[in-house]
Amino acid sequence: MYLRLDPAQGLRVSAPLFASDAQIRAFVESRLDWIKKAEKKAAGRSGRGAAPQRAYSKEELNAFRQRCRAAFDRWEPLVGRRASRVTLRSMKTRWGSCNAANGHVSINLRLIDMPDECLDYVVVHELCHLWEPNHGKAFWARVAAAYPDYARVRKSMR
Ligand SMILES: [Zn+2]
Repeated sequence: MYLRLDPAQGLRVSAPLFASDAQIRAFVESRLDWIKKAEKKAAGRSGRGAAPQRAYSKEELNAFRQRCRAAFDRWEPLVGRRASRVTLRSMKTRWGSCNAANGHVSINLRLIDMPDECLDYVVVHELCHLWEPNHGKAFWARVAAAYPDYARVRKSMR
């Protein structure tokens, strides 16, 4: 068995299928010190005045997954590139990230609490990186072509 503190989902216990509830409870109780330390560490990571990372419910995560899917379906044809894989995860300093070499895009889970226009901007931004890895003139021209109002939304997110 092992424990993992997931910033989005809280404490996760991995246990074999045949473990009893009592065995699992005993295991978690034997690791209370570790859990306290891990929680303290996680709280420290979200520090520096940033709002603490809250836990997301399964329903919220599913709804956000659908919002993301709809956003990629909408913007991929307009940008002319497709993400080969989309990962939703908590990131401290960025709204999204992109690996232009393999087409993998990550979207920050914190966009759950933001309006659609912010998610749209981040999706367009990351898709445009599949054309242009850097933030040069050509990159911003592509962003503006797909999403003319991007400057206002970008400003609202800082
Ligand atoms: Zn960028």
